[in-house]
Amino acid sequence: MFYDKGLKFECQMCRYCCSSEPGYVYLTKDDIEKASKHFGIDFDSFIKTYCRLVDFGPYFLVSLQETPDYDCIFLSSKGCAIYDARPLQCRTYPFWKNVMESEESWKREGESCPGIGKGRIVSKREIEKRLKDNEMPPYMIIKK
Ligand code: SF4
Ligand code: SF4
Repeated sequence: MFYDKGLKFECQMCRYCCSSEPGYVYLTKDDIEKASKHFGIDFDSFIKTYCRLVDFGPYFLVSLQETPDYDCIFLSSKGCAIYDARPLQCRTYPFWKNVMESEESWKREGESCPGIGKGRIVSKREIEKRLKDNEMPPYMIIKK
């Protein structure tokens, strides 16, 4: 693999991936449980207050809400307001399947994420762990 010797990545806190353009942060069941615990509210109240349902035909996926400027609802002036309980999608970035497909896709991602190619080396083992973690399916609400 092109990442056999690890890859340099260190977040530069530019906030681009939490803002700037429309996007989706799809949540797993575990994400919703952790985040609702973080706020001390129940599972359904968390979805109602902070999420939007994205229509996939026979089911909905649950994504975090955005502001009209396309900031994630949890992006604050100090960064992620739920950092310790942030969703899997955020915790595993940029080591996503589509980004890790090839050296080209990794470099292409580096055009929007200035953390790519900087800082400490993330080992192959750690990269593969994040890829594996990311296989967790998103929480699905089946339509009645
Ligand atoms: S785009 Fe990259 S460097 Fe910027 S906040 Fe996101 S992960 Fe960090
Ligand atoms: S939950 Fe936090 S890390 Fe994830 S997109 Fe929102 S602000 Fe960024």
